[in-house]
Amino acid sequence: MNKYEELANYIFPDVDETIADLEKKYPPRNLKEGAEVTRFAPSPTGFLHLGSLFTSLVAHKVAKDSGGVFYLRLEDTDTKREIEGSGEELVRQLEYFDVAPKEGYLGNHDVGSYGPYRQSERAYIYRVCIKELMLKGRAYPCFCSAQELEETREIQEANKEIPGYYGDYAICRTIEPEEALIRIKSGDPYVIRFRSMGNHNNKVVFHDEIRGDISIAENDMDIVILKSDGLPTYHFAHAVDDHFMRTTTVIRGEEWISSAPIHLELFETLGFKLPKYAHLPVIMKLDNGNKRKLSKRKDPEASVSHFIEGGYPSESLKAYLMSIANSNFEEWTAENKCYDLDKFIFSFDKMSLDGVLFDQDKLNFFSKEVIALFSAEDLYARLVKWSKQYDEVLYKHLIGNKELSIKALNIERGGEKARKDFTNYKDVYPIIGFFYNDRYAEIVKDGYPFNEKFDKKVIIDLLNDFSRSNDYTLANDVWFNSVKELGVRHNFAESNKFYKQNPEQYLGHVGDVAEIIRVAIVGAKNSPNLHSVLQILGKEEVDRRIKLAIEYLN
Ligand code: GLU
Repeated sequence: MNKYEELANYIFPDVDETIADLEKKYPPRNLKEGAEVTRFAPSPTGFLHLGSLFTSLVAHKVAKDSGGVFYLRLEDTDTKREIEGSGEELVRQLEYFDVAPKEGYLGNHDVGSYGPYRQSERAYIYRVCIKELMLKGRAYPCFCSAQELEETREIQEANKEIPGYYGDYAICRTIEPEEALIRIKSGDPYVIRFRSMGNHNNKVVFHDEIRGDISIAENDMDIVILKSDGLPTYHFAHAVDDHFMRTTTVIRGEEWISSAPIHLELFETLGFKLPKYAHLPVIMKLDNGNKRKLSKRKDPEASVSHFIEGGYPSESLKAYLMSIANSNFEEWTAENKCYDLDKFIFSFDKMSLDGVLFDQDKLNFFSKEVIALFSAEDLYARLVKWSKQYDEVLYKHLIGNKELSIKALNIERGGEKARKDFTNYKDVYPIIGFFYNDRYAEIVKDGYPFNEKFDKKVIIDLLNDFSRSNDYTLANDVWFNSVKELGVRHNFAESNKFYKQNPEQYLGHVGDVAEIIRVAIVGAKNSPNLHSVLQILGKEEVDRRIKLAIEYLN
């Protein structure tokens, strides 16, 4: 009898299957050649991190483009850190960005035949694998207490050695199985460790899709694979899951490169084919001149919900992230006037290797471009949806004035010279709010910002004349000539140039005339195209506003 058998049977009395049985239960997927199976494997410990969205975006894209599968596995073995409901929230946020998986843990239910997709429900699968490792002498119980481990760590620190459970420090690896069995039977608490055969002085080489071949010291740590609570650690569980869920490419953050040697040894020992790896750059931030990882605690932009609440369309953030993913993406969008990621050809070769700095200006740039391409009706619908949750005032106005809102949003929309003044949905109300009569009343409640260099009487005469003479049927350029003529009638130069040549001859120039009209109608010196504003408000409302402005001046 194998000397480990009694021990293994005692620890795993429930396990009557082998890895070979699991291979049959979870067979290779029936996908076409080249199809990639990728995954997002979050721990339900909080909100969706910007870096996790980045990973999901890339993993989703790689699977979709290759006709493969993108699935979600919930890595919920760290029960102490779990935050109730965060798994569901993560899925909802992926849905918002249209990168939600179709297989895996999908919030309140699992879909797919490679499940369960919650690690906490896969205990049996891990036990099968650990039992087999134990039978091969590659897993053993460890009885070291937290205090003993701490003492070892102090010694290692004092000797300037690498901390960890390895070599002569791995004292439980020499305990004979018979003795281990006696200790377990007598109730000694234990964990199960992997028995590494590696040597830290040797190198292993593995291939990374982004970074090429990486040469790194072999693993020699006897890591914990099964905790005392009966659940596995990340290192072990992910190896088993990536194999039996038939992942072809593991896409994850670069912070995992240093643990890759552990994973390589686990895959090899378990007899699993190694998946491909792609370690993505981490998104960083400049803090006092130093680059550091975005921090959940310190940086609001670490959380994807910050951008959702901030009114960034999902396409904007995705475009920004794709520009980090592939250096040619920005150029591609400019050439194609398109932000549909499905049309872009992604490749790992064009990804930067180093941590990238989060760039708000770049995000804003993309967002302006993205919003400028929406039709007014689409933008309206998106604004309604967003404001319903995040901006009561805007919501009320949009719902109460649908037609007016769409017209206002449509000003200079589309075409080569499309307006790009909305960075996010929060920008909309401050820019178009004056169209709504109650908002206009609020704006002008304390007065109008007319240029003080003009006499009140000049302004009043000009506004009265405008009200009488403005022709709403004229097209923009012809109409602008009529504004010039209006100005000339009141001694304003028809151009800035003329005015500058003889400033003493005029009161001002046509720009001042347009400003006076604008201030009266909008209550501010800036607005979207004045001609469009007048057309949308119509003669009756424009006259009413001019009357109000004149009353104020009087
Ligand atoms: N649960 C791990 C994390 O949240 C997953 C890492 C991986 O993708 O393998 O970081």
